Amino acid sequence: MPERLARAITLGGPIPVSQFMAAANAHYYATRDPLGADGDFTTAPEISQMFGELIGLWAADLWDRAGRPDAYWVELGPGRGTLTADALRAAGKAGFAPPVHFVETSPTLRARQAERVPHAIWHDDVEDLPTDRPLIVIANEFFDALPIRQLVRGRAGWHERIVACQDLLFLPIAGTSVPDSVIPEHLRDAAPGSIIETSPASVGICRVLAARIEAQGGVMLAIDYGYEGPAIGDTLQAVRGHAFANPFEEPGERDLTAHVDFATLGAVGTASGTIVSGPIGQGPFLTQLGIEARAQALGPRVAPDRDRLVDAMGTLFKVLAIRHRDWPEPAGFA
Ligand code: SAH
Repeated sequence: MPERLARAITLGGPIPVSQFMAAANAHYYATRDPLGADGDFTTAPEISQMFGELIGLWAADLWDRAGRPDAYWVELGPGRGTLTADALRAAGKAGFAPPVHFVETSPTLRARQAERVPHAIWHDDVEDLPTDRPLIVIANEFFDALPIRQLVRGRAGWHERIVACQDLLFLPIAGTSVPDSVIPEHLRDAAPGSIIETSPASVGICRVLAARIEAQGGVMLAIDYGYEGPAIGDTLQAVRGHAFANPFEEPGERDLTAHVDFATLGAVGTASGTIVSGPIGQGPFLTQLGIEARAQALGPRVAPDRDRLVDAMGTLFKVLAIRHRDWPEPAGFA
């Protein structure tokens, strides 16, 4: 993969960071299951069953208060399928047993998901989701894997950040200049070297889902590490074997992520006519959903997992919901 991308850049010239990230992650996820202790990183549903269970009960409660409509369960980028398996086991006890739709591009991970959720229906793209019922959409650590664009401030103005390549060495440099008008006014005069990120791919997917929720009813719950932007900051990072690595080395062999701009996702929701809740920290969200009682019921062995989900990930990770205006307010955002 690095050789192929190097050749493409040598022949065709440097590519935007967004294209580099898209190519690297497509290869990365297609060729492995990166999750868990022996992989590259661990996510909340892989830390503890409590995470998926609480989200299942959250959805069952909302569905119940919405009048128990026939609805679809949708998960974006389900990894090993653990969240949906845990969620629907808990939701089933509350009488909520919706058909499952997964949006997943990786064939390797689709196979893992099929082991845990054999009756799921898979799609490559959110556009392909069914149109005939309300959608209850869950996205945990999905948006952070989508490509970001980076704009870098030069001495005189702003430039697209692009990736050049020499002898298999990938290097981010300033590319063509972009007009000041695309930079939020209060950030335009940032110091040379400053970076601003946007994620056209995330905005596009959020826009499609908000329009679907507006037309069909339902809700989307997005959980990720993020901030309320736009802001100055380079958040592109790579992990390998649970350690940070250079995002421009070995493309396709390291997980590339970027922090999610929740203010922008919320603004997309509002502009589409949906109602936005949050963002709120994952810690207070899980506390309001009753993680303390669940942890106590499961016993002292889960105390470290509870601490990771509520304390370690509690503020950096954020939760945002957008819902149809006739749907009730979801729990967890007070
Ligand atoms: N939600 C899971 C996995 C997170 S890893 C968890 O919390 O454990 C990111 C997931 O998104 C993987 O399943 C990956 O294959 C998927 N993914 C990444 N880019 C995608 C894209 N463009 N379209 C669909 N799925 C994507």
